[in-house]
Amino acid sequence: MSEETIKPSHFIRHIIDADNASGKHGGRVHTRFPPEPNGYLHIGHAKSICLNFGLANDYDGLCNLRFDDTNPQKENEEFVSAIKEDVKWLGFDWADRLYFSSDYFEQLYTYAVQLIEQGDAYVCDLSAEQTREYRGTLTEPGKNSPYRDRSIAENVDLFQRMRAGEFEDGARLLRAKIDMASPNVNMRDPALYRIRQGVVHHQTGSEWCIYPMYDYTHCVSDAIEGITHSVCTLEFADHRPLYDWFLEKLNTPHHPQQIEFSRLNLQYAITSKRKLTKLVEENLVEGWDDPRMSTISGMRRRGYPAAALREFCERIGVTKADNSVEMEILDSCIRENLNENSPRAMVVLDPVKVVITNYPEDQTEELNAPNHPQKEEMGMRIVPFTRELYIDRADFKEEANNKFKRLVTDKEVRLRNAYVIRCDEVIKDASGEITELRCSYDPATLGANPEGRKVKGVIHWISAEHGVQAEVRLYDRLFNHPHPDSDKSVDDFTTHLNPDSLITLTNSMVERSLATAQAGTVYQFEREGYFCADTKLCRDGKLVFNRTVTLRDTWAKIN
Ligand code: ATP
Ligand code: MG
Repeated sequence: MSEETIKPSHFIRHIIDADNASGKHGGRVHTRFPPEPNGYLHIGHAKSICLNFGLANDYDGLCNLRFDDTNPQKENEEFVSAIKEDVKWLGFDWADRLYFSSDYFEQLYTYAVQLIEQGDAYVCDLSAEQTREYRGTLTEPGKNSPYRDRSIAENVDLFQRMRAGEFEDGARLLRAKIDMASPNVNMRDPALYRIRQGVVHHQTGSEWCIYPMYDYTHCVSDAIEGITHSVCTLEFADHRPLYDWFLEKLNTPHHPQQIEFSRLNLQYAITSKRKLTKLVEENLVEGWDDPRMSTISGMRRRGYPAAALREFCERIGVTKADNSVEMEILDSCIRENLNENSPRAMVVLDPVKVVITNYPEDQTEELNAPNHPQKEEMGMRIVPFTRELYIDRADFKEEANNKFKRLVTDKEVRLRNAYVIRCDEVIKDASGEITELRCSYDPATLGANPEGRKVKGVIHWISAEHGVQAEVRLYDRLFNHPHPDSDKSVDDFTTHLNPDSLITLTNSMVERSLATAQAGTVYQFEREGYFCADTKLCRDGKLVFNRTVTLRDTWAKIN
């Protein structure tokens, strides 16, 4: 490859470059993202979406969105619409190329009859258990089914009657006739069709009582759509001979090339729809879009920018090596984006009152604060300053050494965007809890220190009169184990749920400008982290902020 590309190259791009050079697919690049609508998409799917749609964009090609919907019992319309929303939100567009494998059920049936007529498929009456027995093992070959040599006419008749609903679930299978002794178990006469009576399919209703298997459906759907590069995860490498066998036997007009890459595993997270389903169904989280979930909808609600997820998928690269990506890589993509783009604001998570004794009682000063320290174009906002303020309880100590650069009795600190104050007196209640700090301010210190005056610390604050009460949700990792689902020492991955993954603060105060915060906007709350106005819970004047990510990586220190 001599051509300079902006994006880092990888082996799939090399394959496409070689194909384009040799004219293999007439220079076309046509990919697809093929989710099964049996759950919400997760961060692993984001990688596949970015890869498939990204390749199409880079090579002036096309990418289809295709629902692989051959398993109606586990699928539904809610999942279909959630998946569409997630792909769109990630920034990709399938234009008019939204497909369902079920669109091809009739064609798949016709192709199956063709296989029967060619002597390449047969109806088998073995029970599920017998079928398993006959299949053999990784070390021993399988045995031919006693039904393998049925006549073509009998097979055609039985298959038609399967479709007509004459047989019970499990009574018969249509199977490919390949090789029961193949070292590749996938080639030992795999099933093509199974019977599913009485199931209502979200797209085809009650039209069918037989459903094609994934391996058969997938390659035929790819071929029908004229896909050139069928990109999938590594576990399908052993299925590729079958993918090619079907397409060769059927002599389809297109023969896409299957290419496998390694799936994304993210530390401290789950990338399996089945396990995410368990978390939802057992109410271990607050739904698919719980901001702690590694689902795309959860991450969106938490405030992760789509561009940061795309950057993450770019940064982790595409290889064939099994790997497990550190959460810090994702976090740093989020931080970099938000540091650049999010407006600043002040929140006091755990308020303690400050009274400025030398400040007039009925005065409000409208101080100006920049929305972003480096980006003038993001403008200014007004923060009202009054005699009574709140600061964070953690920003005050009665006594402290010089390392504590916040407020200490008889010492000074700067209030961000405002004045320098000194703490003169601490008021406590009967239990010894601090209820109020009596301070004085220096009018000569607005915005900057006068010549020769050094005040080390800067803390954030909110006018007691103008601040607005808010609920703040501090999220941490959902799991406290880097590989919750591959730890063999526990029976169940949920053992590794982090009990402190959500801390809800109900008494926090945010500055006045946030009273009208648009749901979904992410702010940098100065000194505290990035927080997103919750898209579900901010309503009727209630303010709820989700912590998107901390300012720095604090996890490493705690553990
Ligand atoms: P799950 O096990 O979570 O259900 P899946 O592979 O069964 O995942 P599909 O809906 O079939 O889910 O996946 C759609 C596409 O996304 C497939 O091409 C699949 O290979 C890809 N994909 C799924 N999980 C990952 C992952 N962790 N990393 C990269 N790609 C993935
Ligand atoms: Mg799947």
